[in-house]
Amino acid sequence: MKKILLIATGGTIASMPTESGLAPGLCSRELLETVPELAHVCDIDTLQLFNLDSTNMCHVQWLEIAKTIREKYEQYDGFLITHGTDTMAYGAAVLSYLIQKSPKPVVLTGAQRSISQRDTDARENLLNAFIYAADDGAQGVHIVFDGKVIEGTRATKTRTKSYSAFSSMDYPEVAVVRGGRVLHYICKPKADGPVFYESLDPRVFVLKLTPGIQPGIFDYLADTYRAVIIESFGVGGIPVYDSEAFADKIQMLTERDTKVIIKTQVAHEGSDMEVYRVGFTIKQRFNLLEAYDMTTEAAFAKTMWALGNSTDDAGFRALFTQAVGADKVS
Ligand code: ASP
Repeated sequence: MKKILLIATGGTIASMPTESGLAPGLCSRELLETVPELAHVCDIDTLQLFNLDSTNMCHVQWLEIAKTIREKYEQYDGFLITHGTDTMAYGAAVLSYLIQKSPKPVVLTGAQRSISQRDTDARENLLNAFIYAADDGAQGVHIVFDGKVIEGTRATKTRTKSYSAFSSMDYPEVAVVRGGRVLHYICKPKADGPVFYESLDPRVFVLKLTPGIQPGIFDYLADTYRAVIIESFGVGGIPVYDSEAFADKIQMLTERDTKVIIKTQVAHEGSDMEVYRVGFTIKQRFNLLEAYDMTTEAAFAKTMWALGNSTDDAGFRALFTQAVGADKVS
C-alpha cells in the first residue's frame, strides 16, 4: 500500500458549530475516523500543521506546508492537504510554484459542509482525494474536489455553496474520481523533479479596474508593493479618459521597478493586449508582461514566486514567462 502523509490545516472540513459560527475544531485523526474505508486505500500518517479558517491563511502558511513536504518528501509516496476552500485555489497555485516537477502527488481537498453535518461532502472529498493520491498515475499539485481533479495552476473557487465549488479554468480537468476509481483524461510522463523553492515575496497587489477609476491609486501602490497585477477590461484595455494619466502612472511604476502585469478581469479566454489600441499602445510603450489566460490566483502566486526568486528585472521576467504546471505564458 502507498504511504500518504495527511497535512491538516483546518477549513470547513474540520469545522464545528460555535456560538459565533463555524470554526475549525476537529483534528486530523478525527477527520480520518469518519472515513473508515480509507483503511483499504493507503497507509496514512497525519500531521496537524494548523487549524485555521483559510481566510486566515497566506504565504506564511503555504511556505510552511511546502517546507514540511520538502523535509518529508522521501518518506512518503504522496501528500494530502486538507484546507479551507476560500483560499484553496491560491494555496494550490502557490504550492505549484514552490514544488515543481514533483513525480509524487500533492493533493489539496476540503469541503463545502463540515464533516459534522449530515449532508456533508467532506467524507466523499476526503476519500476521493486519498484514492487519487494513492494512484500510480498521480503526480504534481492538484485539487481534488467533488470528484474532479484540477491542476493547481488552473483552479478557481466559482461557487460559494454548492458541492461543485471549484472550476478548472480554460483547461480540462486532468482526471475524475468515480466509484472509487481514477479516470485520467490527461496523462503526462513521470516528472523528473522535484524542484523545491523556499521563497515568496508577498508584496503583490491585484487591482481590478472599474469604469472611472482614479489613477491616483497607483501612487499608494508604488509605495507599498513590488508588483501590481492590473485586471484590465476585455482582452486588455487600459483607459485613456481625458488625459494620459494611466500611462503616466504605469511609467512611474516601471521607473521605480514596480512590476506591472496585465491580465483580464473576464473569467474565460484570456488577454490579448495587441487587439485594440487601448491595450496595444501601452503594452508596446512599456514592454508590459501579460498573464494571458492565467487565473488571478495563479498570476498572483507566480508573481510572488518570481519576485522571491529573482534579483533583477531580467530574472523576474525569465521566471514569470517560464511555463510551470499548466499555466500559460504566451
Ligand atoms: N471559510 C472556510 C475556509 O476557507 C470555508 C471552507 O472551508 O469551505 O476555511
